[in-house]
Amino acid sequence: MTKYAFFQAHPDDLEISCGQLMYHLGVRSKGIHEIRIVSVTKGEFGLPGHQYDRFKGDFLAEIRTKELRSAASILNVPSENLDFLGYTDGLVPLDRRFVGVVRDYLQNHRPDVVFAPDGLYTWYYHMDHVNTGRAVFYVIDKKLIDYQPRLYFYSTLSPNVFFPFRPEDLELTDRLIACHKTQIWLLHWMKHIIRPTALFAGLQARGWRYAEPYREVYFGDDSRERNEAGFPIRVFTHFFSGMPFFQAKYPQEVLQKLKSESSPKS
Ligand SMILES: [Zn+2]
Repeated sequence: MTKYAFFQAHPDDLEISCGQLMYHLGVRSKGIHEIRIVSVTKGEFGLPGHQYDRFKGDFLAEIRTKELRSAASILNVPSENLDFLGYTDGLVPLDRRFVGVVRDYLQNHRPDVVFAPDGLYTWYYHMDHVNTGRAVFYVIDKKLIDYQPRLYFYSTLSPNVFFPFRPEDLELTDRLIACHKTQIWLLHWMKHIIRPTALFAGLQARGWRYAEPYREVYFGDDSRERNEAGFPIRVFTHFFSGMPFFQAKYPQEVLQKLKSESSPKS
């Protein structure tokens, strides 16, 4: 049995980026693999605008946990395989404590294969995503755990591995997205990025209409060169990463409070 750990910053990140692969591992290859979903936050501030402020926080966290559970059940990932690292939505830091939390998780669960959002060459430059990917990479690269799992990044601009799928499988993505009712405002829009990305990845996978793009991350002596993206992607991410996209709109008083206590809650 191969053990997989899929890290995500918020409930719904995996469904839009890794749904086809997770379905293959969880449902088509039923019983062969153990899949765990590791959610760094519960996405408790994921609603647009101040008119929704009264729903944000614990109430939204509870709803989004249920939404994640129903999407996970489609992927045949049982509730007991959903783990939450207790960080605050929008304030996932890249610090010693977070690295320690990720290290402890990997050391305890010992997944053979780890998936995380790309922390460098990505089109989804949300700091929660980026810091999650970077912390996972740091733990494995610096050998903070006593074994070396394989690491793949999703939502990447520099893919080197493709998981192909058929046009009729797109329906699965729709079903997974439909589980996240509180996120429809974002996911409907997100589909316009996901579909062309899958189409382009299919071209790169040669012979397939669609594919999910992933970046296998290398470790060891020559890893620096092997992990480096092509020049255009490096230039693009250099400028793109400086733009303040995807910042959640928090109530000011909540933001102040959160900043003063931006440590794990549980
Ligand atoms: Zn997210």
